[in-house]
Amino acid sequence: MIRAVWLILILAVMSVGSVTQRAPWPQGESFLHFLEHNNLPQSIYWNLDKEDKELCEEIRAGVTYYVTRDDNLTHIEQVLIPINEELQIHIKRDEKGNYTFEMIPILYEEVTESFAISINYSPYSDIKKATNNGLLAKAFVDAFANSVDFRSGLQKGDKVSLVYTEKLRLGRPFGMPVIKAAMVQTRKKPHYIFRYNGRYFDDKAREVESFVFRKPVNNVRVTSRFTLRRWHPVLHRYRAHLGVDLGGRTGTPVYAAADGRVVYAGRLGGYGNVIKIRHRDGFLTLYAHLHKFRSGIRRGKYVKKGQVIGYIGSTGMSTGPHLHFGLYKNGRPMNPLGVIKITKKRLYGKTRKEFIRYAKKMKQELDRVAESLQPPRRLDDISVTKMSIEDLPQKVANKND
Ligand SMILES: [Zn+2]
Repeated sequence: MIRAVWLILILAVMSVGSVTQRAPWPQGESFLHFLEHNNLPQSIYWNLDKEDKELCEEIRAGVTYYVTRDDNLTHIEQVLIPINEELQIHIKRDEKGNYTFEMIPILYEEVTESFAISINYSPYSDIKKATNNGLLAKAFVDAFANSVDFRSGLQKGDKVSLVYTEKLRLGRPFGMPVIKAAMVQTRKKPHYIFRYNGRYFDDKAREVESFVFRKPVNNVRVTSRFTLRRWHPVLHRYRAHLGVDLGGRTGTPVYAAADGRVVYAGRLGGYGNVIKIRHRDGFLTLYAHLHKFRSGIRRGKYVKKGQVIGYIGSTGMSTGPHLHFGLYKNGRPMNPLGVIKITKKRLYGKTRKEFIRYAKKMKQELDRVAESLQPPRRLDDISVTKMSIEDLPQKVANKND
C-alpha cells in the first residue's frame, strides 16, 4: 500500500516539466560532498540524526542514483540515492524551495529466469558471454566456491544450468542477482546446490558455504540488530541498520573476525574511527565508533583472525560506547549474526524434510533446463521486455550517454 503511494508521488513530481538524469555514484564521493557539488544546503546532512548519518556512509560507489531538475535546470527538484537494495535516500524540494530528507523504499519487481549452457572455456566467462551479466556469472562462481573446483574438474561440453532471480528498478536490473538453484557437471557428473533460508546446501542437505567468522568482542551483548528496511512505528519513517551494535565498555578489545587485509583505518563521518578488513570470497568486515586503533594497525596491514585491532569507543555519531560491526559480501550488507560463530551446518528433522522436497522440485527444473539446453535471456533483453513507459520517469537521460 505504502509502496503504491510513493510511486504515484514520485511520478507526479517527475512529470511536471522536469528532467531526470541517472548516473553511477562516483568512487570516493561522500554524501556531504555530493550536497556541496550540487549546491544543495549542507544542513540537509547536519540536521540528520545519528542513524541516518550512519546510513549516509553506506552509499556504494557505482550505484545508480537519479537527479531530477526543473526544465530550465535552475534547481534540483529531487534526488534518489539507494543505500542498499531496499531503501533509498529521497531529497525533495518543496514549493518554498526548502529541501527535505527521507528514507523511502525502493520500488522494484523481481523476475525469475532459468537457462543452461555448454561449457566452452569456463563457467564465469561462458555465463558472462551468454547473458551479458557479469554479476550473475560472479554469483554463480561464488555459490560453488567451496564445493566444486572449476579449474581441474571441468571438461569442454559439460553443462551448467541455473535458476535465479533478478531485481528490476525503473525497468533496469539492479543489485545482485540471486542464484536459487544451480547445477554444474564435471565430466558429465552433476553437482547441485540449492538456496534455502539464505544459505546454500547440496542435495544431501549439507551446507556448502563454510567461511567461519569469530565474534569481534568476547562478550556479545546486542543493543541494536541488523535490518535492511524497517518501518519505525513511533518515528513514522523507514530506517535501516546495516550492522549490529554490540555494547561494551570503552577500551574493550575488538578482534579481527577473520584473516584479512586492512583496507581502511581512519575517520568516516558518522561512524567515527573505522577499520575495514577485506577477507577472501568477497567478504569485508567493518568496525565503527572505535576509541582508538591498536598501534601498527593501518591500511595495507595483514591481520589474523582473533588479533586485537582496536578498542571499543564512542567516536562519530554515537550515544554511548559500543561497537558497530558490519559484514559485507561483494559490497552488499548482510546480517553478521547469521554468520559469526557458525560452522558448517546440516539440516535435520522437519526442516530437512522440507528442504528435500524443495530441492527435488528445483532439481527437476535444473535437469529439464539442462536437457533442452534452454538459452538464457540476455541482461539487455530482460530490461527491455520488462520496461514500461509508466514505470519510467519522464525524459531519463544517462550522463554517460
Ligand atoms: Zn550501528
